[in-house]
Amino acid sequence: LLTVTGVHRGFDVGGSRLHVLKGIDMVLYPGQLVMLKGRSGSGKTTLLNLLGGLDQPDTGTIFFRQYPFHEWNDRERTEVRRREIGFIFQAFALMPLLSAYENVELALRMAGKPRAEWKKRVEECLELVGLAKRMNHRPFEMSGGEQQRVAIAKAIAHRPALLLADEPTAELDSQMSAQVMAVFRDIVEHERVTICMTTHDPTIMEVADHVYEMVDGRFAGP
Ligand code: ATP
Repeated sequence: LLTVTGVHRGFDVGGSRLHVLKGIDMVLYPGQLVMLKGRSGSGKTTLLNLLGGLDQPDTGTIFFRQYPFHEWNDRERTEVRRREIGFIFQAFALMPLLSAYENVELALRMAGKPRAEWKKRVEECLELVGLAKRMNHRPFEMSGGEQQRVAIAKAIAHRPALLLADEPTAELDSQMSAQVMAVFRDIVEHERVTICMTTHDPTIMEVADHVYEMVDGRFAGP
């Protein structure tokens, strides 16, 4: 699904160059749950941004399917992102005044999906994350774990092939984190989505198909 070869990325900080990614190679296959771990500042978020086409490498190549993200302009990458990639963040990024149902529906509207498909798909996604009975609740009426599951439903509604999540369980207690991870496993099995997420939590790494450890801008170990 995604092939990353020899990727470097740095930033200009206070007049000097901060070299963040120092030669990343990775391959993501369809229907895989992959985790990135590593110390704060090791470059995990920087890499996720590249995988999602939000940013570009200084050198190296990133192919999402046959699409060369490393040489495409922002408009071209945005178009692929809108159709094929979903994002989940640490803070749940829901619209506070909209119900769970309306939040997921909004994602389908934004993705330009035909209105006739909305209802079925919204119900299907909320079912998948175990919130069919909470459809009409608004974010403030739900727990953090439930809110994050709405955010997941929202991120997968348009059937992305790739789901990127930056520390999706950081704000959750261990029970809620476990629920979110169970939902991720389900999505991988049922929708053949590939999930790549960052985490600091060793207990949830057990459910990963593969864990990459990032050390100073490179992957450690085998
Ligand atoms: P954390 O676990 O704390 O989220 P991380 O592994 O995700 O850390 P990154 O957010 O990728 O690390 O950041 C790696 C380094 O790159 C940090 O030192 C950060 O300050 C720097 N950095 C990231 N993005 C930029 C940017 N746009 N401009 C300047 N520096 C940046």
